[in-house]
Amino acid sequence: MIVMKFGGTSVESAAAIGRVAEIVRARLDRHPVVVVSAMGKTTNKLLAIGSAAVSGRREEALESLTAMRAFHLAEAAGLGVNAEVEAHFHELAELVKGLAVMGELTPRATDAISSYGERISSVIVAAYFRHAGIPAVHVDSRSVIVTDGRHMQAVPLFPESNAKLEAVIPPLARKQVVVMGGFIGATEEGVTTTLGRGGSDYTASIVGAGIGAEEIQIWTDVDGMLTADPTILPGGYRVETCSFAEAAELAYFGAKVLHPATVLPAIEKNIPVRILNSRRPEVEGTLIVAEAPPSRSPIRSIACKKNITLVNIVSTRMLMAHGFLRRIFEIFDRFETPVDMLATSEVSVSLTVDNTRALGAIRDEIQEFAEVSIEDHHAIVCLVGENIRKIPGTVARVFTALKDINVRMVSQGASLLNISLVVAASDLHRAVESLHREFFDA
Ligand code: ADP
Ligand code: ASP
Ligand code: MG
Repeated sequence: MIVMKFGGTSVESAAAIGRVAEIVRARLDRHPVVVVSAMGKTTNKLLAIGSAAVSGRREEALESLTAMRAFHLAEAAGLGVNAEVEAHFHELAELVKGLAVMGELTPRATDAISSYGERISSVIVAAYFRHAGIPAVHVDSRSVIVTDGRHMQAVPLFPESNAKLEAVIPPLARKQVVVMGGFIGATEEGVTTTLGRGGSDYTASIVGAGIGAEEIQIWTDVDGMLTADPTILPGGYRVETCSFAEAAELAYFGAKVLHPATVLPAIEKNIPVRILNSRRPEVEGTLIVAEAPPSRSPIRSIACKKNITLVNIVSTRMLMAHGFLRRIFEIFDRFETPVDMLATSEVSVSLTVDNTRALGAIRDEIQEFAEVSIEDHHAIVCLVGENIRKIPGTVARVFTALKDINVRMVSQGASLLNISLVVAASDLHRAVESLHREFFDA
């Protein structure tokens, strides 16, 4: 068995779903379990509909929903199928009306509404597979992916999910293609949850590990993991192979092509993960395995995280008293705000966050014992490669490449696998371009 996950752009239209069917058909001998995202930007649209409904724009929400229904029915008709999704849209309309009355979008309601993208796309894809002569069965992911109740960021309960996956999927997959929606799950009580944005990749690896798949394939709109984020620097090269550790680091530091948690279940069961392009299935993609052959460059790829906020904290006492860092981190912890990078000096601490939701409250508390300044509009550039620890002089090359750029913070990860830098957002493109030239075109 293999798991094949197709992202939003790979199922964005009838034509795209047609391509997916041919890709799957060519691999029927490997007993595919197909995981699909919502079509195109449906999740964003559902979230916008939800927030319109609760902010006094009920009619606008219902109109967007009508347009969404028309789009899905038209694409299904384009595929020649009469997919059973009317009931989904009817439920969605009821949900929107209920939200308009409640006037509040709770995390639980957010999950209820955003789950429909995958629930609908998976039904359409399964119907089309059958129409195209591919034996297929739809499985509602909520019946096999069990999570905790942390809505919008639910954590899978592995023993429970694995037991269900193992019992349900392999017997079906032996005879037909199983089609499931990504991103969604349910609590033990049956309440719908989601795994966080971009979570369909994670679904694929949870399913892959749960059924002991021989490979997990992430089909997307690029040729694989590239040596730079193409939205920042087009023209990067395809990474042929990288390690689980490198892929996890790249994903965490912004390589959106992979959800950060994706490799964890794969590591556990040592299942190779392959990133592939659904528009160019002949390209080999990127193979992610436990131990990858070393790259020529010390760097495997450069990831970037935009919208980073720099927080500078200066102790109001002259020297840092012990307990200073603990007090600071206890506050970030209490407000559930992760810290990405950290640098300390004699009396100060600088750190970066990308979630600024609670930053005002955090600042108020820290100001009771230290001075705080906050600077928006920064970015993290993260160079990742197992070879960083083996090839001396890499840091020197980084700084030479960045000689004209004001680097605000540096850290060589404790893992020895990454070198991370903070620069102003306005310098990001230039920084990535120079680093890419230094490490991939030299
Ligand atoms: P999907 O809908 O298939 O899950 P995503 O949009 O989530 O696709 O992820 C694919 C996108 O990730 C690419 O189109 C690209 O813009 C972005 N991306 C960011 N960094 C990288 C990288 N290093 N290599 C490849 N793609 C990257
Ligand atoms: N549809 C979800 C999202 O847009 C999950 C995914 O595409 O991976 O976040
Ligand atoms: Mg994605």
